[in-house]
Amino acid sequence: MAYFNPRKRTEVVVDASPVGLGAVHLQEQHHQEWTPVAYASRALSAVETRYAQIEREALAIRWACKHFHLYVYGHEFQVVTDHKPLVSLFAGSMRLAPPRIKRWAVLLQPYRFNVIYRTGVNNPADYMSRHPSSKSPEGSHEQDEERTEVFMSMVVESSCPNALTATEIGKATETDRVLTHIREALENRSWKHFLGRTRALSPDEKTAMQGMWRAQDELSIGGKGLVLRGRRIVLPQSLWSRVVELAHQSHEGAAKTKARLRAKVWFPGMDAQVDALIGKCHSCLITSCEPRGCPVITEPPSHKPWAKLSMDFGTFPDGRLTAVIIDTYNKFPVVEVLASTSFENVRPMLDQHSRCLASLKKSEPTMVPPFQGQEFKTYLDGLVIRHRRIMP
Ligand SMILES: [Zn+2]
Repeated sequence: MAYFNPRKRTEVVVDASPVGLGAVHLQEQHHQEWTPVAYASRALSAVETRYAQIEREALAIRWACKHFHLYVYGHEFQVVTDHKPLVSLFAGSMRLAPPRIKRWAVLLQPYRFNVIYRTGVNNPADYMSRHPSSKSPEGSHEQDEERTEVFMSMVVESSCPNALTATEIGKATETDRVLTHIREALENRSWKHFLGRTRALSPDEKTAMQGMWRAQDELSIGGKGLVLRGRRIVLPQSLWSRVVELAHQSHEGAAKTKARLRAKVWFPGMDAQVDALIGKCHSCLITSCEPRGCPVITEPPSHKPWAKLSMDFGTFPDGRLTAVIIDTYNKFPVVEVLASTSFENVRPMLDQHSRCLASLKKSEPTMVPPFQGQEFKTYLDGLVIRHRRIMP
């Protein structure tokens, strides 16, 4: 153990187990020699034990910063976790994070820290998280937890499709075999054996299980027993077709139907189900004529110098007008400063380069004066140059 010194480098090592949270506050005494300054641990409340593992690990960061507030507030420090997904979440990409973690990230904004990953074997907080000192959290934690759960209820209510209630989705979730496995995996951190439990399931359920397994880092359990992916409700299979039909009621085509669904709900294969339904819907096919982009026409390359030129006007930063001729073969530029874009002003430039222009096959000026004028056309015709106008 060492005394706290505000000038020394600080790190807070955190860990979470299914029963508690642990944290060690360390400071670097000499080069790479880290000595503990303070230890802390606490048991999880009944509600917190049902959090997903990633949420418990994030809660450990939130609680450790609050607990060591006097030591860490106003200083730069690093937080060490053995849960790798948290590193990228706290590095900035919170968009897909579970709502609880988003809330804690906001509450952690006054602290200046970065999260780094170190394997669990070297984590000194691991023992304390498994053998927490206090049986239950103190008052402030209870208040914090209550507010987090109120926030989660708000998230669930706002993500409910208008034609369904959270209670209705909750009841269907309880009887859904895949979501029952998901909830168990989230509560027990047992993703390792998760896919091994699919034997009794139907092929559709197995596909759904794999889809959810791939999104495991974004899943969490919200209020009323619902499973969430980020802020969106993960729907039980019994409601999939009903919700897709509700989103499709106004017949606005695939893109808008998907956008409407994605705003609130998610289930594996949601896009494919929308495509299948809309592919058969006559009204959608008639009304949603999605604009197709213009085809890109690639110009065949020029095979020798001065065979094909492009010409246009531009201005220097000081406002002077310039005429530019570019050889499309080697990008060789000819630049002249002109008084105006009238043919009388452009002609001396063309005359000056007439030796090269005499061998021209094509020029590609844009549709500005003098390019659409008769004088320019006659001049080029005289030199046997093919002229093609293109959009600027
Ligand atoms: Zn339709």
